[in-house]
Amino acid sequence: MSYERCKICGKYDFIDRHKCSPKWEATIPEYYGDEWVEVYAFDEESAAENMAERYNSNGDYSLMNGNEITVLVKKPGGEEVKTFICSAEPDIIYHATEQKVSKENAKNNM
Ligand SMILES: [Zn+2]
Repeated sequence: MSYERCKICGKYDFIDRHKCSPKWEATIPEYYGDEWVEVYAFDEESAAENMAERYNSNGDYSLMNGNEITVLVKKPGGEEVKTFICSAEPDIIYHATEQKVSKENAKNNM
């Protein structure tokens, strides 16, 4: 079983049992105008998040500064359009590195 990037939806998964998420069309009117982009996602909300991520990582990560963007999502060829306000926040990653201290120094520091 191989872990690869799906050629259709772009998701990394065990390719033998992978099934693409449903396809949506999304746009950010402010930047893409009426050009709709195909997005694969579990639902409309995550399609909007994917679109926001694409926009954010293509640009200057402006969503990290508390900015919000409007993302429109619809089914491919569909009429009904849902509007989402998207924002982002960075994950905090903690690092721990063990500091080796000699027994002699440890005693002196107590
Ligand atoms: Zn796929």
